[in-house]
Amino acid sequence: MNVLVINCGSSSLKYQLINSDSEEVLAKGLCERIGIDGRLVYQKEGMDKEITEAPMPTHKEAIQMVLDALHNPKSGAVKDLSEIDAVGHRVVHGGEKFAKSVVLTEEVLAKVEECNELAPLHNPANLIGIRACQDLMPNVPMVGVFDTAFHQTMPRKAFLYGLPYEYYEKYKVRRYGFHGTSHSFVSKACAEYLKLDLKNSKIIVAHLGNGASVSAVLNGECVDTSMGLTPLEGLVMGTRSGDIDPAIMEFIAKKENLDIDGVMNVLNKKSGVEGLSGVSSDFRDLEAAYNEGNPRAIDACEVFAYRVAKYIGAYVAAMNGVDAIAFTAGIGENTSFIREKIVSYLGYLGIKLDKKTNDVRGVEEIISTPDSKVTVCVIPTNEELAICRETVALVK
Ligand code: ADP
Repeated sequence: MNVLVINCGSSSLKYQLINSDSEEVLAKGLCERIGIDGRLVYQKEGMDKEITEAPMPTHKEAIQMVLDALHNPKSGAVKDLSEIDAVGHRVVHGGEKFAKSVVLTEEVLAKVEECNELAPLHNPANLIGIRACQDLMPNVPMVGVFDTAFHQTMPRKAFLYGLPYEYYEKYKVRRYGFHGTSHSFVSKACAEYLKLDLKNSKIIVAHLGNGASVSAVLNGECVDTSMGLTPLEGLVMGTRSGDIDPAIMEFIAKKENLDIDGVMNVLNKKSGVEGLSGVSSDFRDLEAAYNEGNPRAIDACEVFAYRVAKYIGAYVAAMNGVDAIAFTAGIGENTSFIREKIVSYLGYLGIKLDKKTNDVRGVEEIISTPDSKVTVCVIPTNEELAICRETVALVK
């Protein structure tokens, strides 16, 4: 089967066409500046990137351009659009309504729409992408894969906030967690790689990208994760603050004369390692500044690593032990000095880092020594492939 995987944002759209039998990526790319002017990046497997500037007033024109590129006689990945058998859509928030991926019917889409309130920046964009695909490919089955679904197994003690209970009852204010597709994919891949029995295992996944979260996966099910109602909770991220004393919001609002939107903008876009360092949200820049002795970059890296180590410690407690810790996503897969810093806090677990194997990028690798009591590894994530697999399982 050929599955088109779509990840639709408010003004951009990423896509991959994957052959689900060989799991090969046939073509991939993105549309940017939708609603502004429009730019399509298209790359067929084994060929150079093609960039086309063309108006994309809405997501429908963007998806039409992707479909045109996919079956373009010169560089298309398929001869005919009928060779696209299914579409898998990433959907950010499934609330408590979706604990699994689902085939997108009208009834399901109405339920997804009810979750819009919980992710006002993301879900409406996801829905626009789904609708545009339905218009252009009316007979192709579509599947929704939710970022929150994997975390729906969290027990009440992990997902309830210490707030008036009526906020949970009335507004569904609780912890949901995100990056679920990645945490699910990586925990399974980790068990497979280390030959652990997933159904009888304790795995901690550290998904460290621009957005970052840690999860505790007990016997294959998520029992806790660091993001909450929104992706703002938990780790210190690229530009997000992660956990802070909530009273800081009032304090800063008064000092800086900001309203609630202004404070939220600071916490989401101007904080994290970028806000701390004043250098960048990108760890390639931060590592360079760290090595030059920039004190704020050093602080940012130390705060980032320390917070990850604290969450790992918390999740060892939550599961009463741990068999394996898996690092994944941009930073987790590529930034050995940050992994080294995080692991340096875990000596009490009998963990020993293998400095040689830790010098690895983007491939599966065990980075703890053979006598380490817990295995630490790098497991590259692949959210598109995970969405493709989920889609195939539902439409086959
Ligand atoms: P997201 O999907 O949340 O945008 P990614 O998982 O792509 O995030 O991670 C992006 C981050 O990963 C970058 O900001 C950078 O800090 C880090 N990163 C990516 N590639 C490298 C690399 N080769 N070396 C060091 N850090 C990297």
